[in-house]
Amino acid sequence: MNQPFIEVKNLKKYFPIKKGVFSRTAGHVKAVDGVDFSIYKGETLGLVGESGCGKSTTGRLLLQLLAPTEGEVRYEGKNLVGMNTSELRKMRRDMQMVFQDPYASLDPRLTVGDIIAEPLEIHQMARGKEKDRRIDELLNVVGLSSYHAKRYSHEFSGGQRQRIGIARALALNPKLIVADEPVSALDVSIQSQVINLMQDLQEQFDLTYLFIAHDLSVVKHISNRIGVMYLGRIVELADKRELFDSPQHPYTQALLSAVPTPNPLAKKERIVLRGDVPSPANPPAGCTFHPRCPAVMDRCKTVKPVFQNRDGRFVACHLYE
Ligand code: SF4
Repeated sequence: MNQPFIEVKNLKKYFPIKKGVFSRTAGHVKAVDGVDFSIYKGETLGLVGESGCGKSTTGRLLLQLLAPTEGEVRYEGKNLVGMNTSELRKMRRDMQMVFQDPYASLDPRLTVGDIIAEPLEIHQMARGKEKDRRIDELLNVVGLSSYHAKRYSHEFSGGQRQRIGIARALALNPKLIVADEPVSALDVSIQSQVINLMQDLQEQFDLTYLFIAHDLSVVKHISNRIGVMYLGRIVELADKRELFDSPQHPYTQALLSAVPTPNPLAKKERIVLRGDVPSPANPPAGCTFHPRCPAVMDRCKTVKPVFQNRDGRFVACHLYE
């Protein structure tokens, strides 16, 4: 395989828990706790997991919207962690985000044209007629019309708003887009339209995606490879087909057993996990999945499994060591 476009090494984000009148640090929420992955040029890496597993925080750390507690994010070989503001600003042109909630992420006081123009103005990329031409072009590219520029976001449906969010993300000709649950707030019928649009745009503009979702069936369609997160760590990362055909980590197996199949006659046994996801403020020792794992062994309770590469397929589980 080629050199990775993005390389993430041992990425961690701990949020302090403050207590008492002196705001003493009483502990940490380990939102992301040692994540490693690479993204290759032109591919889509899907990141899935239950809510609170750290996938959205990982997306924000990748773009340096949050400062990591530890670790590296290498973009075309350069480490973004610790870069000064002006260096980061230049890098940010190449890396944009599409947010989960198209209702909350668009400023209701601005026209759609102003929303799309914002990044162009901040980065001084276009003004006057050139800016208007670019807004037109971006609206057309996402399947909207030039006259929509004069309207306000509340006049649009959820799917159209997400198209506006995508147009804004494309304004600076980025190379990488982190899409954080971009279709979760949309009706199922609209979800596939937005996913198809994102696929077309990827081809048209040679984009690379990190596509975050809580639903495996959503990432299946668009991803080349998929990483499964549990309690701040990636527990399995593999080619999409391999992951769906032969999931190795017991957590991936459980998630997949809940994905409906198109064939109603196909027999599939649902794996129901015991209990709830533990708190990231107090994760279990050893393998953090052990209190819920149907295959738990003694050493799982004390020894943390290593995230190991087995022929390009990564898994963190003692069953495969
Ligand atoms: Fe289950 Fe042990 Fe594997 Fe963790 S390491 S997933 S507890 S078998």
